[in-house]
Amino acid sequence: MYRKTVAIVDLDAIRENYSLAAALAPQSKNIAVIKANAYGHGMLRVAQALQDIAPAFAVAIIDEALELRAGGISQPILVLEGANDTKSCEVAAANGLSLVAHNQEQVLQLLQANLLGNTPLWLKVDTGMHRIGFAPDELGSVLERLRDGGHDVSVACTHLACADDLSSNTTHQQIASFNACVSGLDLATSISNSAGILAWPTSHSDWNRPGYMLFGHSPMTTEVESASGLRPAMTLRSEIIAIREVPAGESVGYGARWTAERPSVIGTVAAGYADGYPRHAPSGTPTLVKNQIVPLVGTVSMDMLSIDLTGHDNVALGDTVELWGQDVSVNEVAARCGTIGYELLTGVTARVPRRY
Ligand SMILES: *Cc1c(COP(=O)(O)O)cnc(C)c1O
Repeated sequence: MYRKTVAIVDLDAIRENYSLAAALAPQSKNIAVIKANAYGHGMLRVAQALQDIAPAFAVAIIDEALELRAGGISQPILVLEGANDTKSCEVAAANGLSLVAHNQEQVLQLLQANLLGNTPLWLKVDTGMHRIGFAPDELGSVLERLRDGGHDVSVACTHLACADDLSSNTTHQQIASFNACVSGLDLATSISNSAGILAWPTSHSDWNRPGYMLFGHSPMTTEVESASGLRPAMTLRSEIIAIREVPAGESVGYGARWTAERPSVIGTVAAGYADGYPRHAPSGTPTLVKNQIVPLVGTVSMDMLSIDLTGHDNVALGDTVELWGQDVSVNEVAARCGTIGYELLTGVTARVPRRY
């Protein structure tokens, strides 16, 4: 490993963040959502770190679940998108996976599949996000059909569309709609994502589904006290591979999109968009060098980016640059780029070694 761009992952922080999620909702069990390579942190390593405290894991797709099984994870694993053909249902069953069913076609495939072993099913209800899920008034009949077919349907779940926004009324409506349609059915329930856990106690139920908060960040659009104990788990860092003086009036980088207004000292950092640092990060996006916030300047290249070191005389070739982590919030970098921290974390590419 000769290149110095690495993602340092603090597994203890992830364990602590999980425990915080659990403490915020003491009546609920928490299924750790580790899809998308555990939001970029390394799915198997994260699962291993959580397996003695998390009773179950959730991933988006069957392939992710199989990767966990191949890695020796024996916990229940829920596949959030479920299975769309009989073959996939059978693979899920053979590997002891739980499936979400969210449409009638999946129900048909499940009923036609030859399921060896036990495949607990979760039924997804669309309470207003309008992405996947049965209509609330379909739930009872779907449940009956699957149970008549011998299936073990254990949980009804729904997903909140606007829980990151404390001022939105949608969350109240979704929770009410969900509670109304599951009442009287013999099913456990699951509503909360990270935002639900942090900010909507009425969404807490049998199973909560924390994802983003496990990695130490709040998804909320405003600051909430409940998130203050979260510790960022990933530090994306690189190093300075060149330092040069740039006269006033000269520009830096592709497209000459940044021009020095004063005689400047520019550091070149060995990380770029091919590592997952967003190309559309504007000049001024913070980085951290020697405990000082230093702004990005110019266009991010594939393998390099530039920072303005003017006035930071103690910085030298080979110094470490934090792109996000403990001191530079990934949420802030994301906000500068018009996106969310989720996209940046999941976008750290395979070229970047994860160090634990
Ligand atoms: C990704 C996902 C979660 C986790 O959401 P966070 O906002 O990361 O906590 C929960 N439930 C479902 C269905 C998901 O797809």
